[in-house]
Amino acid sequence: MANLRHQAKQTVYSRRPRKCAVPVNDQGKYLRVSQYYGENVYNYHLSKSLSLEDKDSLKQIIDGKRTIDKPLAAKVANSVLEWAISKGATHFCHWFQPLTGSTAEKHDAFLSFDGDRAIEEITATQLMQGEPDASSFPNGGSRATFEARGYTTWDLTSPLFIQESANGKTLVIPTAFVSYHGEALDTKTPLLRSDLKINEVMTKFSHLIGMKDVKKVWTTCGAEQEYFLIDKAFYFGRQDLVMTGRALVGSLTSRNQQLEDHYFGMIEDRVLAYMQEVEIELYKMGIPAKTRHNEVAPGQFEMAPIFKDANVAADNNQIVMTVLRNVALKHDFVCLLHEKPFAGVNGSGKHLNWSMSSDTGVNFLEPGHNPHENYRFLAVVATVVEAVYRHADIIRMGIASHGNDHRLGANEAPPSIMSVFLGTTLTKIFESMVTAGKYEHEARKTLDLGARQLADIFKDNTDRNRTSPFAFTGNKFEFRACGSSASIGYPLSVLNACIIDVFTETNVLIEDSIKAGKTVDEALIAVVMKWYGNAQRVVFNGDGYSQDWVKEAEKRGLGNLRTTPEAIAVLKDEKKTSVLKRTGVFTDSEISTRHNVMLERYIKCRQIELKTLAGMVNKQIVPAAVEYKGILADTVKKQKDAGVDSSLELELLKDLAALSKSVYDQTLSMNAALDELHHKHDEETIAKKIAMELMPQSVKVADLCNQIEEIVPDENWPLPKFYDMLFIR
Ligand code: ADP
Ligand code: MG
Repeated sequence: MANLRHQAKQTVYSRRPRKCAVPVNDQGKYLRVSQYYGENVYNYHLSKSLSLEDKDSLKQIIDGKRTIDKPLAAKVANSVLEWAISKGATHFCHWFQPLTGSTAEKHDAFLSFDGDRAIEEITATQLMQGEPDASSFPNGGSRATFEARGYTTWDLTSPLFIQESANGKTLVIPTAFVSYHGEALDTKTPLLRSDLKINEVMTKFSHLIGMKDVKKVWTTCGAEQEYFLIDKAFYFGRQDLVMTGRALVGSLTSRNQQLEDHYFGMIEDRVLAYMQEVEIELYKMGIPAKTRHNEVAPGQFEMAPIFKDANVAADNNQIVMTVLRNVALKHDFVCLLHEKPFAGVNGSGKHLNWSMSSDTGVNFLEPGHNPHENYRFLAVVATVVEAVYRHADIIRMGIASHGNDHRLGANEAPPSIMSVFLGTTLTKIFESMVTAGKYEHEARKTLDLGARQLADIFKDNTDRNRTSPFAFTGNKFEFRACGSSASIGYPLSVLNACIIDVFTETNVLIEDSIKAGKTVDEALIAVVMKWYGNAQRVVFNGDGYSQDWVKEAEKRGLGNLRTTPEAIAVLKDEKKTSVLKRTGVFTDSEISTRHNVMLERYIKCRQIELKTLAGMVNKQIVPAAVEYKGILADTVKKQKDAGVDSSLELELLKDLAALSKSVYDQTLSMNAALDELHHKHDEETIAKKIAMELMPQSVKVADLCNQIEEIVPDENWPLPKFYDMLFIR
């Protein structure tokens, strides 16, 4: 066993950066990225077979102004087919995002027959609708198996693209996945609903405050993706990584991230080669990867794209995760997207940068250049602050997962207490507006919001806070508590619902003020005073990781839902979920579906972890301890015969004996508790027991394993160590 680990090390020492096919022209010269960016994305504007009128209709459909009819769909299907075949695609697939959190796809060949002549074909119906057997996807009990029909329907707002693999290409059709009765069985449908509603509410807001030319508003999102890379040889040497995505045991290395030398450090050749291939793949599929860097923990990295509208950003992020994983294997790496692969070093998140944009080019979270724009900006921020305050528990629920439980509040990630960071400058502006209706600059000079100062003082006050779960960062909010493996569609649709809810009221406030004879600016100031005045206790600019904040937050009456079972219980609280329903983003049955699916996933994932841990203890760790005990005992005996002092060996032997007995017993009792769960039928009780009793027990087991690892000689340790995984590349 131990040998396998050493073989793996030898393998890794000899790895070299992988060269991939960088796009070149006919003369073999490298293409500029702008020359091949999006080459695998279908662009109807470039179609030769579609008329100008067809293209105009498509634009209206994409803007949500009308729905597609069969004749147009048939024309589009032809145009798509021509394009896809010219690119070498042989198959198409409806690609969707079931509640598993990942994606699903079913492929069909273009191959068809005209009489007995083989042809390529995709019909309008095939493009627009698919009917995968839905019974194998999580449905949370919303359907009986006998009515397992589910439909995938083409989402025209997210572009079709071609996925390349070693021996062929596939046309991918982004779709929504709904049940026979129209219930959303995916993460896309609610997000699309929320975007329509955001459009409605924010267009109204724009018109009310005098931006009459606004025709469309949408949410924008840029999802920064963190991940770990470890060598494939080590990965397959650890059952826990393969089964659960996280190292369930492992003693921390002496140097990990204390020196903070990995963050933004020089990127090693093998890793950079990987990142470059990832980017080439993403560029071809029209995903604008912008930033790449080392993250805080050793072996941890990040990529960030340029933001897009939320629905496409959510689709893109799924592709990003797939590409990160697939390309890693080609480089003999494994990409770990788990929120907490290694205890003791930072976990991985997905920072959702979020804002709202109009078709007239306004970013609603951009401080402006004139007083009116600034009042608008402040009113929008105040509305968001109220939404987070009012719906904190629902927003927390949206990011709940077993993996994220290790991250939230674990002293290194945004805490599970939902608070908003605004920075000192903006906070002061709000505070003085609420108390005095105007802002007093520190130098006692009244800052006239009429001048350009607001935008300017922001430039001078780029204070940053990495500990806040929801931080204002200049011209957007950054929702940092989202887990690295999560589908962002879900938290985005939940967040949007909360924003829609309060914005609907903001609109009423403005309407009432204007009716009462106030100016638009006065109406906006009233909005700021009302929402900020009400919600200011959710604003926290201090250290979110500190224990003081936990106490302070409790005093302020803010929720702190530490574990997934606690967080998803919110879905059973009708008062709290009413916002999801009221805004039309989720239906009643979809809410209970999600509760069931999240609960079930939590339990299953934890059971797999606990069983894997027990297996590793019994089959790898205890045997390693026993083996070394035998060696020590032999040595003691031999030394005794030779009349040599064996006090050191005896001490080690005793320690090891005590630790291995203890870990064996603890594992037995953990296993017994796990078996006992099967006799309890209420899933909520099971989940709570796992979170409150079994998880702490598993931490004890892991701790004992780590102590054993510290005694057994490196030579004899069977599992790739943290040192191997995080430092050898
Ligand atoms: P930071 O240093 O705050 O992380 P960056 O400029 O690196 O800022 O941006 C991080 C992410 O935020 C990127 O994905 C970027 O595209 C995205 N982003 C920037 N502006 C917006 C916006 N208005 N809406 C949504 N995301 C945005
Ligand atoms: Mg950022």
